Amino acid sequence: MKPRVLFADVTFETAKLQKEPKYLELLSLAETRYTIPQSEAELCDVIRDVEIAIVGDSPITPRVLDAAPKLKLVAKCGVGFDNIDVEYATRKRVLVTNVPGVLAGPVAEHTLLLMLAVARKLVSADSYVRTERWDAFRSLGAGFDLRGKTLGVIGFGAIGRRVAEMARTAFGMQILAFDPLVPPEKIRNSAGEPATLEQLLGESDIVSVHVPLMPATTGLVGEKELRRMKPSAVLINTSRGRVLDEKALEKALTSGWIAAAGLDVLEKEPPDPGSLLLKLPNVTMTPHTAAFTAEATRALWLACIGASIDVLKGERPRSPANVLNPTAMVVEK
Ligand code: NAD
Repeated sequence: MKPRVLFADVTFETAKLQKEPKYLELLSLAETRYTIPQSEAELCDVIRDVEIAIVGDSPITPRVLDAAPKLKLVAKCGVGFDNIDVEYATRKRVLVTNVPGVLAGPVAEHTLLLMLAVARKLVSADSYVRTERWDAFRSLGAGFDLRGKTLGVIGFGAIGRRVAEMARTAFGMQILAFDPLVPPEKIRNSAGEPATLEQLLGESDIVSVHVPLMPATTGLVGEKELRRMKPSAVLINTSRGRVLDEKALEKALTSGWIAAAGLDVLEKEPPDPGSLLLKLPNVTMTPHTAAFTAEATRALWLACIGASIDVLKGERPRSPANVLNPTAMVVEK
């Protein structure tokens, strides 16, 4: 019997893959199954007899891993693998891979989109035009220029670096960067000036967050940090919701500690209908779609399919997030 590959919670029509040689190769090596699980219990049920799971944001918890005795690989269809218990997977000798690199461009473009949308009040302008209040919006003024402003980038990895380079090149922004793990010369080579977190928060007109979610970055931007920002400043978050303390952000936006926010990610996705953020006019939100361009989605699928084929052939997949020896994990045919 062929091994089984589960495509879980990644939304992309498989019709678009039908002509992809990698997908066809996978179909020749394995049986495939597709699902968007609505609960942990449902995922446990559907993962029970699979060797490989390609996943989006479903929590891959110890319970899910325990429910899948044949599992050899969890391929994350994205960069941030905070939804996967990598330590437990490693203990269970399950490989975990992610797809770094592919998303830097689209997420950086989306970050600039949010910056521009907030700076130029795009959402409000559109709504004024549609509700026949053309002149009313013009009399309010159309926001502020990005040119010459200071952008503070927290987390100067693949996405943070790309944001900095684009903001510098396209808008002539000054860049301050805080990233304890990146050497100062590397920051300077990518259009940035190294800064402490305090300095960055105090001097930036826009602060953009690009760190992975992990215990050390949970709540990294909280009340203390928001109070350090300029009252005219804008906060952008395209990383993970829990990197910001959302209650503190609500206070900051309603008390005038900062002027506005642009958010692609939230603590709870989708948010509760009663969430205060949904009611604030100085917040612009997108539904965690920074990376959902046609090109990036295709590249993610193909990378995960490539990792699956590697493991099915007993080869080492690219970008393992844990360090198992995949040759010890050849899928029995
Ligand atoms: P990356 O690993 O290349 O860069 C992350 C950087 O954060 C690293 O340079 C690291 O040194 C730095 N960092 C870690 N802890 C820090 C701290 N406490 N303070 C400051 N810097 C710290 O990752 P990336 O590809 O740039 O992606 C960053 C994050 O963006 C991902 O982990 C993911 O959560 C998020 N992301 C979101 C979307 C989306 O759709 N909105 C898409 C892709 C990635």
